[in-house]
Amino acid sequence: MINVAVFGAAGRMGQQVCDAVDEADGMQVVARIDVDDDPKAAIAAGATVAVDFTHPQAVLDNLEFCARNGIHAVVGTSGFTPDRIAQVQAWLAESPSPSTGVLIAPNFSLGAVLMMKFAAQAAPLFESVEIIELHHPDKADAPSGTAQRTAELVAQARAEARSAPFPDATTYDADHHRGGTVQGVPVHSVRLRGLIAHQEVLLGAKGETLTIRHDSLDRVSFMPGVLLGVRRVAEHPGLTVGLEHYLDQ
Ligand code: NAP
Repeated sequence: MINVAVFGAAGRMGQQVCDAVDEADGMQVVARIDVDDDPKAAIAAGATVAVDFTHPQAVLDNLEFCARNGIHAVVGTSGFTPDRIAQVQAWLAESPSPSTGVLIAPNFSLGAVLMMKFAAQAAPLFESVEIIELHHPDKADAPSGTAQRTAELVAQARAEARSAPFPDATTYDADHHRGGTVQGVPVHSVRLRGLIAHQEVLLGAKGETLTIRHDSLDRVSFMPGVLLGVRRVAEHPGLTVGLEHYLDQ
């Protein structure tokens, strides 16, 4: 039986994770920790795996706590820049339990993982690539972790293929209507009541376009990936970024 602590247990994702873990075979929720709770409750309850769906401002403290106490962590919270990733790696390197594993997955849904894979595969074959991510307006950060990761994979694939820079004749854009960029890849963030989590990767070449679109219609779509992470994280010491590394086995 895997004993699981859920950080952000009262949140939208956290509540769903608690239900999914309790309904799954071979695991149980032993600690539900939210914003005013002491994380040490996870140790007292005998948790060996923590799941974190909290807030970009809270997740690093939680991961430092997990690394120091040898608790494996499965993380869905967004906002991981290269500096933050490096900080987590440093804590893991200093951990008194070197076998501690952390999985940070920008997206736990299978469809989104495939969308990222297909986008990276297609990116060097087209002249232009732009990403539009669309989410509910209660989301704290932009761009989404999924868009950030997709852009990184697109940039990496194009660098390896020595692709030319994207064509863009814009010389006047005083109010940033062209959106932001991640590693040179344009990313546009939409926040709209009624949406959950959606993304389009637009690819263009002369005379044709390809759109790869993924829609999360219900938070339940993330649960099989989260449960896979909980089952496998102890087999992957150190930091893993991306659920695809657990699927390829
Ligand atoms: P949410 O409803 O705001 O839930 C976050 C919960 O964490 C809230 O109850 C919040 O409490 C709590 N919290 C804040 N600080 C905490 C701390 N230090 N310790 C413990 N709990 C704390 O947000 P959500 O929609 O569930 O999303 C949570 C995160 O997951 C976001 O970063 C989102 O982008 C990400 N996400 C990832 C995936 C994926 O597949 N990777 C999918 C969906 C969402 P308060 O409300 O009192 O602050």
